[in-house]
Amino acid sequence: MFHGGGWRGFVRADEEAQPTISTTLLRRVWDYARPYGRWIAFVLLGIFVTSMIDAALPLLVRDLINTAIPQKDIGRLNLLALGLILIPLTGGLINVWQRQYSARVGEGIIYDLRCALYEHLQRMSLRFFTTTKSGELISRLNNDVVGAQRAVTGTLIDLVTNLITLTVTVTIMAGLDWRLTLLAAAVLPLFIPPAKRIGRILRDISRQQMRTNAAMTTVMQETLNVSGALLVKLFGQQEQERQRFSRQAAAVRELGVRSALVGRGFFVVIGLVSAVGTAAVYWVGGYLTIHTPTFQVGDIVAFALYLPRLYGPLSALANTRVQLATSLVSFERVFEMIDLPLEITDAPDGLVLAEVEGKVQFEHVSFAYPDRGPATAEGDEEAIEGPIRPITDRQWALEDISFTVHPGQLAALVGPSGAGKTTITYLLPRLYDPTRGIVKVDGHDIRQVQLNSLIAHIGMVTQETFLFHDSIRANLLYAKPDASEAEIIGACAAAHIHDLISALPDGYDTIVGERGYRFSGGEKQRIAIARVILKNPRILVLDEATSSLDSESERLIQQALEPLMKRRTSIVIAHRLSTILSADIILVMDHGRLVEQGSHNELMAANGLYARLYHTQFQALDHAKN
Ligand code: ADP
Repeated sequence: MFHGGGWRGFVRADEEAQPTISTTLLRRVWDYARPYGRWIAFVLLGIFVTSMIDAALPLLVRDLINTAIPQKDIGRLNLLALGLILIPLTGGLINVWQRQYSARVGEGIIYDLRCALYEHLQRMSLRFFTTTKSGELISRLNNDVVGAQRAVTGTLIDLVTNLITLTVTVTIMAGLDWRLTLLAAAVLPLFIPPAKRIGRILRDISRQQMRTNAAMTTVMQETLNVSGALLVKLFGQQEQERQRFSRQAAAVRELGVRSALVGRGFFVVIGLVSAVGTAAVYWVGGYLTIHTPTFQVGDIVAFALYLPRLYGPLSALANTRVQLATSLVSFERVFEMIDLPLEITDAPDGLVLAEVEGKVQFEHVSFAYPDRGPATAEGDEEAIEGPIRPITDRQWALEDISFTVHPGQLAALVGPSGAGKTTITYLLPRLYDPTRGIVKVDGHDIRQVQLNSLIAHIGMVTQETFLFHDSIRANLLYAKPDASEAEIIGACAAAHIHDLISALPDGYDTIVGERGYRFSGGEKQRIAIARVILKNPRILVLDEATSSLDSESERLIQQALEPLMKRRTSIVIAHRLSTILSADIILVMDHGRLVEQGSHNELMAANGLYARLYHTQFQALDHAKN
């Protein structure tokens, strides 16, 4: 069921899941349960003791009917009545005691699994997040982890309880009368097949429920966030979305009803068969009492009292395999994600970049987005799974890029849209790794450097600024948790956003709405700039805003950026003429290739793409803005 950890395998697993129980899977589940070994032992002890105590109940009834009543032994009668109260009471108390341990085990396993999964997801590459529905991820973190817990605290504990109860009951029953035991067992074939069938139906329903719930969550996720809601409103799609949602919700409703009805039917069948068994025991038992002097009324009653303890566990056990397999599907789904290979692997023993000068080099770097072309040169599982497509030039987002930006220099990336400028900026903080070639910082291959020590020196300001749903201060502190108030204000002043923030009623404590929507695009970008100023990295990567900003906003941003770019190596996706003109090196990109590089004058003299862009775009853009 595991597709060698391939990401596409994860998408398909839902459809392919079969009720098989692999020992590898069980061993892995056990690895998670092992730390709770002591508590599990308590739970098992509790189950065993309760089973034994409960099993004594019918024996008391037998003694009451066979001995105490005929012999008119009042003392014995009182004692037995007391026992009839004390036994369930003790059983109940032990059960409560046992529950707290089983709850701790279950919740503990949830906690461990969830944290392991979250940690793993945190380390997944950017590509993973661009190709995964967040609803799907959240569903795994929530539903499947809870499903996994149920497998432990529900199915596994039920299994043990039933096995113990059954063993104890059969032993006692056979001791009472083996002929009646056989008779009681004779009705079993009557209900094992329906129990199995219904179990299977229930399993199918619960699997469909998982799927429809996930689909419903996805609709909610997509349409109930700011961007989604905006899109729905702008295109007037409320009615369609309402219908789409109501279809999904209706599917959830239908399945809920079906599962409840099938469940009921199951109990009716069990009840019916138990009734047949009970009738048979009383009937044949009656004969036995009449014809065999040693057989007494109390024996029949005690026997009948044992029947539910025989049929219940047996019918449950008939389904155990299916149930266990179903509950283990959740574990499997969680493990599947934990096993997803990390595309960007940290070098834990790698170099720690304490200080950097800020020299950035690209050496023959080629890059293809993994789902468009070759992910890695060889051995890529997806390439094996999917049809092998010829690699055409167009599939390379970057092809054989080489350049050097010296410490403190400003490099301007220019070129038509889709040329690969953004992709270049992604390779530097290792949001992606090059397919071929090497990216170096201060002469070190960045794959040999500890990731955190690399990231610490790189600051990025993208066009789309993400702010957490938290105060402005908390958002700023993200860059430097120990920043003082003075530092925060200093950074915001430098980013030309302090006046605006301090004019807000709550100042720096203002909560930024989901995705920071209360600020305009330009204001958000200035907050992002303040954040980078606080971080104070040696290397700055900047995506200059294009046309979306008004000139006032743009002027403020420019004023914020100019000092920021000083004293650092800056790589800027440049749209403004002033940035381009002040660049130490201009990198001209086209169709994933670095077609020209040099200073403005050199490139104008070369009279190539840059010169064309200069005449047609940069100049015109700047005129339009000024
Ligand atoms: P630019 O920043 O110069 O506009 P990009 O670096 O964003 O260009 O894009 C370069 C090429 O890579 C484009 O053809 C784009 O369609 C493609 N591309 C960008 N992001 C992805 C992605 N996540 N998956 C697949 N292809 C992508």
